[in-house]
Formats: sequence, structure tokens, C-alpha cells
Amino acid sequence: MAETEKVVIIGSGPAGWTAAIYAARANLDPLVFPGKAAGSDLVPGGQLMLTTDVENYPGFPEGVTGPDMMQLFMRQALRYGTRVATSGGVKSKVELTGDTPLWSAAFQNVESVDFQQRPFRVVGEDGFEVRAHSVIVATGAKANWLGLENEQRLAHSGGGVSACAVCDGALPLFRGKELAVVGGGDSAVEEATYLTKFASKVYLIHRRDQLRASKIMQERALNNKKIEILWNKSPVDVLGDDLITGVRLKDTVSGEVSDLPLGGLFMAIGHTPITGFLKGQLDLDDAGYVKLADPYRSTTNIEGVFAAGDVADHVYRQAITAAGMGCKAAIDAERWLAEKGID
Ligand code: NAP
Repeated sequence: MAETEKVVIIGSGPAGWTAAIYAARANLDPLVFPGKAAGSDLVPGGQLMLTTDVENYPGFPEGVTGPDMMQLFMRQALRYGTRVATSGGVKSKVELTGDTPLWSAAFQNVESVDFQQRPFRVVGEDGFEVRAHSVIVATGAKANWLGLENEQRLAHSGGGVSACAVCDGALPLFRGKELAVVGGGDSAVEEATYLTKFASKVYLIHRRDQLRASKIMQERALNNKKIEILWNKSPVDVLGDDLITGVRLKDTVSGEVSDLPLGGLFMAIGHTPITGFLKGQLDLDDAGYVKLADPYRSTTNIEGVFAAGDVADHVYRQAITAAGMGCKAAIDAERWLAEKGID
């Protein structure tokens, strides 16, 4: 049987690669399961692979695209010897040229884990399995989408459809335009309110006649003169070729269809943490997020298992906060391993 890994990191967004950078520099020889580009929720690079311009990550005064940024994170982790699980086994050296896209390698997904036995078991595809003294879960959460064809096309091409107003709302593309947010929860109201800083007007498109958001947030939306709530409306198509020009709405009560001209559309219909493979293995909250044992650290209910990034954070969901949590998880893992005399 192969040697037991000191640290296995599951996920390859800002949290996963940052944990890898810190763990590699601490001589922990980390192994990353990055996820798989096709047929898996765990996408190499995570949510940033769906983001065009990132303008709020410190250190990039001119901005950077999400995929480019993740490529840089990965290269930095590999530079210090991070190993990657691929469909061929463990790659001690992943050959990357400046042009190699992050998703081109045959990366491994994790199908299951067993945290009941030590060393832990981490099982990938085709029976590929490793044993690990510690595991950092950094699988993230994926934004929910309506699933409309044109929504996806324009979201992937930077055509003015986004699932994160805080990430994208300040882009020049959206300034002075009429924008819309879909959803009726706290996120939708918060994002609509945020967008009023840049937009000439913000529509809040909600499928019912009552918001799900908390009372205080509801009042914030109702009292904001720039926000107009469109009740009982659900998008059935997104309009526009290269750039969004509007949204087609269906009235959920009357069935009537109408078009609303727009310069940008933001989805705020919830997130789904990627924790299906952790059920029964780790404490999760009702929404499926990993419960941290201590909110200031990365520890979980299982000693030696740590969590970082959006998988354990439904509040901030930013690349910079995820990276910070990845750093904490690697330091926590390093200290825990040292305490246990594993080096
Ligand atoms: P959420 O509370 O689950 O709300 C999702 C909203 O999207 C709901 O209004 C839902 O409509 C709508 N929706 C879902 N699927 C849809 C679909 N296919 N088509 C159209 N609409 C759809 O999610 P969230 O707003 O992201 O909040 C998640 C958690 O974070 C909540 O606990 C929330 O309180 C918390 N949070 C707190 C703050 C804050 O306190 N500042 C800010 C953000 C989030 P229905 O209402 O009809 O189900």
C-alpha cells in the first residue's frame, strides 16, 4: 500500500490552492484532488472559472480574469511541489506551460471519503484511493442558476449575466444601466441594494408575491427608490447575442409573457455547497455547509479534518476570504500534525 499522505486537499478554487501553497511550503507534501471539468460538481478552479473580470482581488491593479487568476494560484502551488491526483494516479509534476488551461489535465474528482477510520480514506474514480492523516475540504459551493440556455451562454462569455453582484456589479459594463436581480431571499435584496450604487435602476424579479428575505432586508428593498420589485415573475429566456439586452418574463399567476429591456442580470437564487460526498462523515448544517467547530478556525467535528472557503461560508463567498480560509486550514493542519507527531 502506498504511503499515507500527510495532507489531502479536496478542491481547487482559491481556498484549495492557497491551502496547497501553505502546506507545500511547510513541507507537508500536499496532494490535491482538483475535481473534474466534465460531469462533476467539483470543477477545477471552482466558481472563478465562471467569472470574467476580477477587480477586487488585491495585487491585481489592472484586474484579472477568474480563469487566469486560478491558473496563477495553481502554478504557485505546483512551484512548491504540490502534487495533483489525476486519472492516471498521482502526478508529482504537472507540466504546465503558460498556455495550458487549468481544465485540460485529466484531474481526479473525489467520490467518497471515510473519516471513521484513521488514516482517513479518500476515494477517487475507478477505485483510485489514498490514505491521509489530515484532509482539507475546500470544495466550495456552486451558485444556483435557472438553467436557461441563453443564461449560461451569456454568463460564460461575460455577456452581462452573473451570479455574484458583489464580484461583478462594479464592472464598467453595468454602470448607469437598468439591471435586474432574480430571487426573493436576503441575497437577492442585498445584491439589488448593492447594485443601486452603479445602476440607474434595479428590478428585483421574484416568482411569488412575498419576499423570503428577513423583515429588515425587505424594508431596505421597499424603501429604496431605485429598486422596483416585479412580483410573480419568472425569467423564461435571456435576450441578446453577445451582450444581454433583456429578459423574457412569465407571470407565474396569469401566464402572461413580457420582455424587460436590461443591461445586466444577476442570479441570487441560492447556492449549493458541494458536500454530497461528505454526508454521514462530517457535521453539515441544514443547508449542507460544513459546520466549523470554531468560527475563527478551520476545525470541524472530526479531528484532522479542516474546511476552508465557500463550503464552510455562506456569508462572504469571496475569492479573498476563501484564500484566507485556505491559509488558516493549512496552518491548522500543520499544527495538528505536529501535535500528533506526524511529520
Ligand atoms: P434563499 O434564502 O434560499 O433564497 C433564494 C431565493 O431564490 C428565494 O426567494 C427563492 O424563491 C428564489 N428561487 C430559488 N430558486 C428559484 C428559481 N428556480 N427561480 C426563481 N426564483 C428562485 O437564498 P439566499 O438569499 O442566498 O440566502 C441563503 C442564506 O444566507 C439564508 O439563510 C439567508 O438568510 C442568508 N443570507 C443572509 C444575509 C444577511 O443577513 N445579510 C445576506 C445573504 C444571505 P422562493 O422564496 O419562492 O422560494
